[in-house]
Amino acid sequence: MGDSHFPETIAKICLGKFSSLPRSGKPASNQWTVLSCIIQEESSRFEVVALATGSKCIGSNKMSPIGDILNDSHAEVICRRAFMLYLYEELERALLNQTSLIEFKPELLKFQLNEEVKFHFFTTMMPCGDASIFPKSDNNNTGDVFKKETSNVDKKRSMNFNESLPKKLKMNDGDIHRTGAKCLKNDERQDPKGEGADYHITGVVRTKPGRGDPTLSISCSDKITKWCYLGLQGGLLSKFLEKPIYLSAFVVVGDTPFSKESLQRALFDRIGNIELAPPFGKKSLLFFQAKDATFTFQKADNKDVCPSSIMWYKNGASQKPEVAIEGKKQGVTKKNQGLKSSRLKVCKSELLGRFKLLHQKVHTNIDTWSYSECKQNMLDYQLNWKTLKSRLGMWPEKNEALLKFT
Ligand SMILES: [Zn+2]
Repeated sequence: MGDSHFPETIAKICLGKFSSLPRSGKPASNQWTVLSCIIQEESSRFEVVALATGSKCIGSNKMSPIGDILNDSHAEVICRRAFMLYLYEELERALLNQTSLIEFKPELLKFQLNEEVKFHFFTTMMPCGDASIFPKSDNNNTGDVFKKETSNVDKKRSMNFNESLPKKLKMNDGDIHRTGAKCLKNDERQDPKGEGADYHITGVVRTKPGRGDPTLSISCSDKITKWCYLGLQGGLLSKFLEKPIYLSAFVVVGDTPFSKESLQRALFDRIGNIELAPPFGKKSLLFFQAKDATFTFQKADNKDVCPSSIMWYKNGASQKPEVAIEGKKQGVTKKNQGLKSSRLKVCKSELLGRFKLLHQKVHTNIDTWSYSECKQNMLDYQLNWKTLKSRLGMWPEKNEALLKFT
């Protein structure tokens, strides 16, 4: 990773993987999308293990009470869901001693990840939300002009979060890159929407942009922050793993606005000092831009957003990606809509199914448990999540009625 070609190597592998996938679900030449990948590094060998494209979310009125629709189809989010499916496959293989990645420890009833293995994140645009807010400049070198007005408050912040105030970006001159993600409605901290740097505040949790029916999905910057502290595996999989799985590097493609400083600020610095109960804890991340790599379907004024998403993960049985439109599997007819085969593998209900299957093999049968009961049962994870949430200041409560499915 110390080698200077590292970001270019990562970008090349990810863009190559994307090119190798079938045409279905990819943008047309006049459309744009976001591509995200998770790369596994083992003995200096890099391999894409999860990939997704997409930049859309469904409105709150279309959310499903049985977990069969994807609310959030931003590439970053479905890529991480696809990675969870990859992990489930590897855990199943570990039970049969068929993988070098993970080992099952029967005495602990837990799985242990090979310490040599690292995971990296690649994406073609800065994550929406807080990380997307940074000064515009020709070379995107923002080190000197980037100052916070409330640095004293920041110092205090690690002692008492409640004393922190909304923060403005202060720059010598010029404008800032904006995000369509909005501050939470019931948060007293709101964007002033003034000129230049007075448009946004930084450091607050945001919901994703959406037209018409508003989305309840949290911005990618906020979700990635959660992964940086609690791991990529999420609550359910934390039950089986000896330690959470953290990212090591974050690589953004070239030819798009980029700022290391805003990534560091959004994913780590806004949290301040935090004590999580082991095995959870902050694991710092290295940020890179692959300056020589470009993405054909990069966002541009003369392009429309691609309505579909593709999702793929490394899987022994099938290498075929799935295609989603409006959170549902492409091509599913009304008649087949309720069938299990009509669901996307990355939807909540399918992931819950994978969890229960593995739970039965390792522990006990929990078939009757709801999604919400399974989640609440992960006490260590929930406790640490509570601590992290208190640092984020605000995080919308989930609608429990949408989490009761079994
Ligand atoms: Zn996003």
